[in-house]
Amino acid sequence: MPSALETLVKILKLEREQGYRNTAVIGGLGAFCEKWTQDARAQARKPEHHLLVDELSELLRNYEAIENRNERHNTVVYMIDRITGRKPAPPAFQVPPENQPAAQGERREISTESKTERNHRIARREEKRRESPRREERQSAGRTEDRPARKERVSESGRKPVRPARFSSDEVEDDASDYMGFDYDSGPSRSGPVVMDIPVKPRLARPPRRPRPYIDPERAADILHGLRASVDKMKGIGPNKAATLSKVGIETINDLLFYLPRRYDDYTQMLPIRRLQPKMQVAVIGTVKSADVRIGKNNRKDFAIVVDDGSAMMNVIFFGQGQWLGRSIKPGMQIVLRGVTEIYGNRIQMVNPEWEAVDPDNLQQTGIVPVYPLTEGLKASAIRQYTRAAVDYWADRLPDYMPEAVLERADLADLGWMIRNLHFPETWDHLYHAKRRFIFDQLMILQLAVLANRRVWQSVPSAPLSVSDEWLEAFLTSVFPYELTGAQKRAIEDIRGDIAKEVPMNRLLQGDVGSGKTAIALTAVAMAFASGKQAALMAPTSILAEQHYRNIDKQLAGIPGERRPVVALLTGSITSSERESIYRGLADGSIDIAIGTHALIQENVEFKDLGLVVIDEQHRFGVEQRGALRGKGTNPHLLVMTATPIPRTLALTLYADLDLSVIDEMPPGRIPIQTRVIEPNGRERAYNFVEGQLELGRQAFIVYPLVEASDKIEAESAVEAYDKLQKIFYEYKVGLLHGRMTPREKDDIMAAFRDKVFDVLVTTSVAEVGVDIPNASVIMIEGANRFGLAQLHQFRGRVGRGGHASYCLLVCDTPLPEARERLEALEQFNDGFKLAEIDWRLRGPGDLVGTRQSGQGLIQLVDDMSPELVALAQREARTLYEEDPELLREEHRLLRERVAQLRNDRSDLS
Ligand code: ADP
Ligand code: MG
Repeated sequence: MPSALETLVKILKLEREQGYRNTAVIGGLGAFCEKWTQDARAQARKPEHHLLVDELSELLRNYEAIENRNERHNTVVYMIDRITGRKPAPPAFQVPPENQPAAQGERREISTESKTERNHRIARREEKRRESPRREERQSAGRTEDRPARKERVSESGRKPVRPARFSSDEVEDDASDYMGFDYDSGPSRSGPVVMDIPVKPRLARPPRRPRPYIDPERAADILHGLRASVDKMKGIGPNKAATLSKVGIETINDLLFYLPRRYDDYTQMLPIRRLQPKMQVAVIGTVKSADVRIGKNNRKDFAIVVDDGSAMMNVIFFGQGQWLGRSIKPGMQIVLRGVTEIYGNRIQMVNPEWEAVDPDNLQQTGIVPVYPLTEGLKASAIRQYTRAAVDYWADRLPDYMPEAVLERADLADLGWMIRNLHFPETWDHLYHAKRRFIFDQLMILQLAVLANRRVWQSVPSAPLSVSDEWLEAFLTSVFPYELTGAQKRAIEDIRGDIAKEVPMNRLLQGDVGSGKTAIALTAVAMAFASGKQAALMAPTSILAEQHYRNIDKQLAGIPGERRPVVALLTGSITSSERESIYRGLADGSIDIAIGTHALIQENVEFKDLGLVVIDEQHRFGVEQRGALRGKGTNPHLLVMTATPIPRTLALTLYADLDLSVIDEMPPGRIPIQTRVIEPNGRERAYNFVEGQLELGRQAFIVYPLVEASDKIEAESAVEAYDKLQKIFYEYKVGLLHGRMTPREKDDIMAAFRDKVFDVLVTTSVAEVGVDIPNASVIMIEGANRFGLAQLHQFRGRVGRGGHASYCLLVCDTPLPEARERLEALEQFNDGFKLAEIDWRLRGPGDLVGTRQSGQGLIQLVDDMSPELVALAQREARTLYEEDPELLREEHRLLRERVAQLRNDRSDLS
């Protein structure tokens, strides 16, 4: 493919990314055009190539003169479309019919093609015919001006393009493999020999958009009001059915419209058992031929079934699940299994797959079938029927609240189209675009809501705090035995700048485990004290609060100035008389610095003059709690710290109300933790290795972070593992910590481990983030493949805190090569941010977003949220916010209502 076109697409994409400011190349596109045209001409081989070059160079030259951003956007998109062949050449740039070598080319092709090729070609033509009405509909939609920058050249003569640029103009992403500009004639043979007889489904590169009818705001409000009607207003849904629907949270018609499938199945795409190979991640559908409970190792009840799908049979085994599966899976039943295949003996089998009974109704559906979450009394066929009715009635009536300019710039679908395709997607591409719009909306509205809240609370001034350069200098040298890293100093300067203002600080400090956030917290707290204000530091657990208390109290001994601050520790575990006296001290101002847990935000805690609040391990606190602490002062400055390496784009969206400081540099002299991925059969060696560390006097974590349905099962398996490990490490003391323990019990266990009461700690989660066990030098994580890299990186941060060479062993308990490869990133990288990015690409951002968003349903479909989409939503939200911060313009009115609604529903947003 001609490199000139490739280069141009890259540049155009860059221009798009940079917001159409004519900055993608130095000197602008106009200047670039000259050299480019020469290159492109040299590569052109046919008349139509030269015409394409003519057309593009004209557009490039005129680009600078386009003043309007949307117009520039249209031009860039148009050029990409022309290069990739999605758009035919406009009449002015077409080869006159008489000298059209293409036609000959086609004849030659026909004469040499094989029968399969011919069938294929016919099938494709057929497909194209079916597609074309849709294309026309889109073009007539008035949005796709074929030549945005130079409308006058589009002739209305009705002359058909001599030759469509390519076979289906809807096809393709714009990646390099799709260049058609200079390759018009190669047709099907371009992609090598044709192997399939089934017609290729055309890809949908961009969602179609329809002209938006004007709906006056009163009318729109009425329509939206109709959506709030109870579902029993719908035909066919009576009070009984409404009651069932309310069990899954559907009360109104709106709820029903947004009750999204949890999955989509295309049964015609499933693999027959006969075609399965080992180590494939697949879904299989078949009938249960036999089902037996077997007694396995240690009296464990395993469950074994044979599944037949008509092509072959397959064994499926569920370890340890005999008891309850025996009651749920019966011979004769049709089930879907999702899991990884493996070879046992010489037969294919699946171990512990996900399974579910097939609703016979699903099998009768063709194409992509939405699979909704169900509940007792709610059948798949019923919910599908309801959503179908709701979609049919509402999809085309919904007023779209997103400004058209935004949809246009971001290539997003219309609201009605989105709703229809979220429920009943025509193809996977349709679904992709529907989800894209859906997620975009959530991100954008969330960000606008958060920005609006920020405006509100920033309007209440806070007391400016300031310290002199001399004081800070003296503080840093007398308090810390080490030189702060550059990143630490920068963060301190950020904070210092913020708190010197009357606008309250609201800053997020991100830094990997061990990057030295405590020193920054301490400095912030001390600056508040030196400015004559009280300060508070809140940690998620008592043990962490105590750890901070001990450090800070000791280090503040060196603070410059006449008076040492009075520091108090307030947690749930102090006596009530102590508590009373602390309450008094905080209220009368005799305590300067309070360190504690949630106990700090109890209602009856009052401060005399709270100037600054620091929250450690922010992700473990809800936003409500941030708000509660803020409520303790007139409007104290706020610093929140987190070790969760949320990628910057995501942080800027989810925490749009926070300014961001990142510590991207570790204190010197850290020995990186050596990490190894091991297979289950390497466990014995791993235990030996752990024992070697114990012999050296070190301690070990062994983590079973099982993702089970309930705490109970999780606790049971940890207890089981604990029994086993006690036998393995019989010469050492083994402790156990799991999620069913009370916070108090957990704290006690962690304290005992820190004090070396145990050598090995078996735990289900490394819940007690941030607790220092400097003597621990090895952490072994079971089932590591089930976790995000960033999360594993956090776990790994539990060791290597005491200057000993430290190790992390990751047990990968699936044979999938991808799983292992993913974990190997941890062997290579030590940087949490890097790992978070990798994870996001490979697994989606679910783990990174955390419970605040996904758990509480603030963002749905989080796994489909790509970094690009987040960046896009962020850019659009900021642009809109800059243009019209209160969304007062007419065309922003519906959006403003959506934002207001979110702010009402979620008072916890800031
Ligand atoms: P985290 O960011 O995980 O909260 P900490 O604040 O607990 O990290 O710091 C981890 C360790 O690094 C502590 O023992 C601390 O004393 C030490 N430390 C922090 N900053 C520096 C520095 N600039 N140079 C050397 N050691 C440092
Ligand atoms: Mg910390």
